[in-house]
Amino acid sequence: MFETLSDRLTSVFSSLRGKGRLSEEDINATAREIRLALLEADVALPVVRDFIARIKERSRGEEVSKALNPAQQVIKIVNEELVEILGGETRQVRFAKNPPTVIMLAGLQGAGKTTLAGKLAKWLAAQRNTPLLVAADLQRPNAVTQLQVVGERAGAPVFAPEPGNGVGDPVEVARLSIEFAERNNHNVVVIDTAGRLGVDTEMMKQAADIRDAVSPDEIIFVVDAMIGQDAVNTAQAFLDGVGYDAVALTKLDGDARGGAALSIRHITGRPIMFASTGEKLDDFDLFHPDRMASRILD
Ligand code: GDP
Repeated sequence: MFETLSDRLTSVFSSLRGKGRLSEEDINATAREIRLALLEADVALPVVRDFIARIKERSRGEEVSKALNPAQQVIKIVNEELVEILGGETRQVRFAKNPPTVIMLAGLQGAGKTTLAGKLAKWLAAQRNTPLLVAADLQRPNAVTQLQVVGERAGAPVFAPEPGNGVGDPVEVARLSIEFAERNNHNVVVIDTAGRLGVDTEMMKQAADIRDAVSPDEIIFVVDAMIGQDAVNTAQAFLDGVGYDAVALTKLDGDARGGAALSIRHITGRPIMFASTGEKLDDFDLFHPDRMASRILD
């Protein structure tokens, strides 16, 4: 995860070791190297610009600590700015005052929504919730079965289209699932929606219709971190087309660069809430900006 950036930053910092006070030239050279490292990691340009401006400003500022040498000082600043750009605080799930809490997942096909639905259900159940998974992806022939398989592994029941359950109409399935959850004491409902290979208006409209029918407490945009800058573009398209409260980044295990993780919060203004780091149900957790920054600087 993020090996490229990690390696580049390590070499930037090692060139500062042993220096006394940092000259303006040192700061500029360091900023230039960090800029290149971020660009190579596929971080969006406006994010790189802001990041570098902050690093320069703070490195020149009066933050001199007697306990830290200049190299350590720069590492500390970069660490704090990385945490900031990754979202600062860990974003927790906001549960509804009156259950069920409705969580809707949206994103492109292949982003990892169905897998994430299962992971989320297992994670929620481990915290004494009683999640219900809802199969509102009726686009892909296998999607309902796939969710049922995942649900079984996660130990969470699946509300799926069948006679009386809104066959063929994802909005109706979603709507009826809430009533089902109320009757059967499920305190959280996780709705898996349809995605397509590319952003299209019909898909957006369907997601928006489901949103309007069930008023989710959390809409989570699910995106494959490995697609880098495309993740940022897709994130923007979904923000305009459907809107969402938070982001789940998937396939972080295969992301050597880290561009999506480092750009998405700054570009969309939405926090990253979940990190998915593998195909197994347990490869999943809340996204912790501070831990992620430490990993990058490890
Ligand atoms: P959906 O179309 O958005 O529902 O995506 P799926 O849940 O079907 O996932 C697409 C593929 O990505 C599947 O082969 C998953 O096993 C795989 N996948 C999902 N999440 C992760 C992850 O975090 N890491 C890895 N390596 N693979 C993942």
